[in-house]
Amino acid sequence: MEMMTAASQSRPNFGWRFDNSYARLPTSFYSRLKPVPVRKPEIVVFNQALARSLGLDAEALESDEGAAMLAGNRLPEGAEPLAQAYAGHQFGYFTMLGDGRAILLGEQITPTDERFDIQFKGSGRTPFSRRGDGRAALGPMLREYIISEAMHALRIPTTRSLAVATTGEPVLREKILQGAILTRVAASHIRVGTFAYFAAKGDIEGLRTLADYTIERHFPELAAEDNPCLSLLRAVMERQALLVARWMLVGFVHGVMNTDNMSLCGETIDYGPCAFMDGYDPKTVFSSIDQHGRYAYGNQPRIAQWNLARFADTLLPLLDDDRETAVSRAEEVIAAFSESFSRHWLTGMRAKLGLFSQEPEDETLVQTLLDLMQRARADFTNTFRELSFEPLPDAPVFRDPGFSEWFERWQARMERQPEAREACRRRMRAHNPAVIPRNHRVEEALEAAVERGDYRVMERLIEVLSRPYEDPPPHDEYHLPPPPTALPYVTYCGT
Ligand code: AMP
Ligand code: MG
Repeated sequence: MEMMTAASQSRPNFGWRFDNSYARLPTSFYSRLKPVPVRKPEIVVFNQALARSLGLDAEALESDEGAAMLAGNRLPEGAEPLAQAYAGHQFGYFTMLGDGRAILLGEQITPTDERFDIQFKGSGRTPFSRRGDGRAALGPMLREYIISEAMHALRIPTTRSLAVATTGEPVLREKILQGAILTRVAASHIRVGTFAYFAAKGDIEGLRTLADYTIERHFPELAAEDNPCLSLLRAVMERQALLVARWMLVGFVHGVMNTDNMSLCGETIDYGPCAFMDGYDPKTVFSSIDQHGRYAYGNQPRIAQWNLARFADTLLPLLDDDRETAVSRAEEVIAAFSESFSRHWLTGMRAKLGLFSQEPEDETLVQTLLDLMQRARADFTNTFRELSFEPLPDAPVFRDPGFSEWFERWQARMERQPEAREACRRRMRAHNPAVIPRNHRVEEALEAAVERGDYRVMERLIEVLSRPYEDPPPHDEYHLPPPPTALPYVTYCGT
């Protein structure tokens, strides 16, 4: 097992090139420990393209030795594994958390000198596990793989998935499930909750070190500003405004926007109970534990702003020596979120409607369409896509008495811009996906994989989702909404 094969000798270290800047931070930031070895590692999905872009030897990694590595049994050379400390507001309530079932191996330096965290999820207990077993079940890890890669293909900033390996060990949930480990790739895992951790301990030095580290890693241009921490708050606010606008534009419901799940670099992180909305309704909620709809589709901008306010709270001691000055500066930035979000959202909506220019009435034009869609419970993804079809397909929303009036307004609006209709249609097709990870399709793929060990359904789905803006081939049914069912789709803070 431990002997080097000829193949791995010719490709030393699988292409891993780790730096460990997080491990060089003070020891209060983490706890050093190794993944807990598992019984029988086996790779069940592997992201060849991502592996190559990270500078990894994809062929060598997709082997027994690679499986041992991607399940944590054998550490790559240069890795300095650790579990990160953080805190977070979960459904509004503050808790000290930390990586309870994740291990950061280190930061992979790519051939183009970019830096990405390589993290295992489900790799065993850590000092932050509390009552958890540190493990993850196969279904939820495959689900994260599918949806995070779909988000990437939709051009939405996100953590990515390099591989899922099964452990050969059971995990006990409501029933016995197969254990698995996901290898997550992220620009970093610094969260609003990481700052909250130091703020809660009253560790101002720790906060300052973390702020400096975050600026150096993600916003190096801010280091020279008069007030780098205030600039950091503004930059993070801008990235979140853009991110949440992108979610809204594809009907994505994150489902668990706790502050420990808000990444400072502006990537979507933590694919637990997330799902895509079918019929348009701002109140859409999928998560079984989100009883009051705190994280409903339409609430996401407001919650992002709330989370940013919690981030601002942690930064106060660094913003100004005078508390009142610090508060008023932070408030100004947080208040600017609404305007920033609306700007990104409207820009995206204009693109979805094939508009190049800007007119003051555009927002009402979009809102009227959304109201019509809500009344008809029209499929969010397909309605936008179909607006670029000629003639329009026969769908209830297009038969609504109010629709023809809206349509006239939209046509007239397009007439007032110089671009040809074909250019408008191309713009629409580039901004309205034909396929999204439909819940019933994801479930179907997971069932085949988990219940029958058949990964072909999932591989096909991943393939289709990697080209979301291409017109589906005839008779391809990946773009269809689910058949009507009696029960709403429910997701679980999947573990
Ligand atoms: P999440 O809802 O995935 O953001 O997780 C919230 C917190 O619970 C994080 O600190 C996780 O590390 C921890 N956690 C979730 N599942 C487990 C588990 N099975 N074992 C230990 N910790 C867990
Ligand atoms: Mg989390």
